[in-house]
Amino acid sequence: MAYRTIKGTHDILPEEIHRWQQLENVVHSIAGHYGYNEIRTPVFEDTGLFSKSVGKDTDIVSKEMYSWEDRSGGHLTLRPELTAPVVRSFIQHNLGVRSPLQKLYYIGPLFRRERPQKGRQRQFHQFGVEVFGSEHPEQDVEVIALAHHIFKELGIKDISLKLNSIGSGDCRRNYRSALIKFLTPFKDDLSETSQKRLETNPLRILDTKIPHEKEIIQNAPSISDSWTDEDKSHFESVQSLLSGLNIPYELDEHLVRGLDYYTRTTFEFVSEDLGAQDAVCGGGRYDNLVEMLGGRPTPATGFAAGMERILLSMVTSEQTDGRESIYLINLGKAVTMKALQMAQELRSNGITVYMDTKRRRLKAQLREANRLGTKKAVILGEEELKNNRVQVKDLLKGEQEEIAMDQLAKYFIV
Ligand code: ATP
Ligand code: MG
Repeated sequence: MAYRTIKGTHDILPEEIHRWQQLENVVHSIAGHYGYNEIRTPVFEDTGLFSKSVGKDTDIVSKEMYSWEDRSGGHLTLRPELTAPVVRSFIQHNLGVRSPLQKLYYIGPLFRRERPQKGRQRQFHQFGVEVFGSEHPEQDVEVIALAHHIFKELGIKDISLKLNSIGSGDCRRNYRSALIKFLTPFKDDLSETSQKRLETNPLRILDTKIPHEKEIIQNAPSISDSWTDEDKSHFESVQSLLSGLNIPYELDEHLVRGLDYYTRTTFEFVSEDLGAQDAVCGGGRYDNLVEMLGGRPTPATGFAAGMERILLSMVTSEQTDGRESIYLINLGKAVTMKALQMAQELRSNGITVYMDTKRRRLKAQLREANRLGTKKAVILGEEELKNNRVQVKDLLKGEQEEIAMDQLAKYFIV
């Protein structure tokens, strides 16, 4: 075969689409209950948007972006994440003026040139939320509760919430110095990437996946020692509000998240049955990003959840949509027009109608009706057309009855 999907990308086939739609419906419905509005932004943006916000020395920007130079010389990138595009849109359209508390959610594809493996693709999908305008802990908790609610609704078990606070400006600066002081003696044991990060962004070393680096950071100073009083009380409120909602969490001092723009609360939902790629959802507060990208200082918080990983651990309900479906068996060219008209009328009344367009024989159409699992077939042949009647066959019981054509919709709607 000449053309196949590109490495790390997948077709979502009809047999899987039910699960996707189920997940999407839950996201729309629950985000709606929390008063969030959907936002859709383009799949490509100015490269600078990502290098500036996500950070130059992150994996995403340094090696995972699909970027190219446009014919007019602009530098464009397929979006590797959606927070920066949503922030761009928030600033561009003055959304903060329209509503002092903007609550947005999104669903869409993202692109990262990573090594493909289970739960890791080059085109993948996320849903997420971004809220602009509140610096208070109840906003962090509402966002976490929303994610938690969606996972519960989807029947995802064995999922746990990890929580940390990486503080604000002063705290980050102090902790940065403390971490550099602690890590410098181990410099030669660190990977090349971490050695570089020691100078550019030492906090990111805490995010390492290399076992011997993990061992080293076991004894690293704790960020909680660098919290300001405000950071501390903010984080204590987040915790007590979560407890008040009966949302269990574990504190994780090393949870700094991969991207540069976070402040204070950071969190991650991990699913025990996913193996190595266990992070289902990551998020937190990012009070400086709007200003960094040229907007008015605006506190913000949000999360992004990986849909492929959620689907791997989601309990799917049976694919019965409860709709009555009918197979319209039509026999011969002479009845085509009438068959199409009948199908349209039934469909306008909310009934699912399958209709043969391959001009197959009666037996083949019956076989198809059974394969599709329809319970009733309507048979229209030349004889029926002449008498303005059709046969209705109960495919389970095998019984058949004749009814007047103009009674058909009524017959099925009851
Ligand atoms: P990881 O540590 O697994 O690489 P990340 O920190 O890069 O995750 P985020 O950028 O926070 O992930 O994205 C949020 C979520 O999106 C992740 O928790 C994960 O569920 C999902 N995700 C990230 N990258 C991929 C990918 N390449 N393929 C599928 N899902 C992904
Ligand atoms: Mg990653």
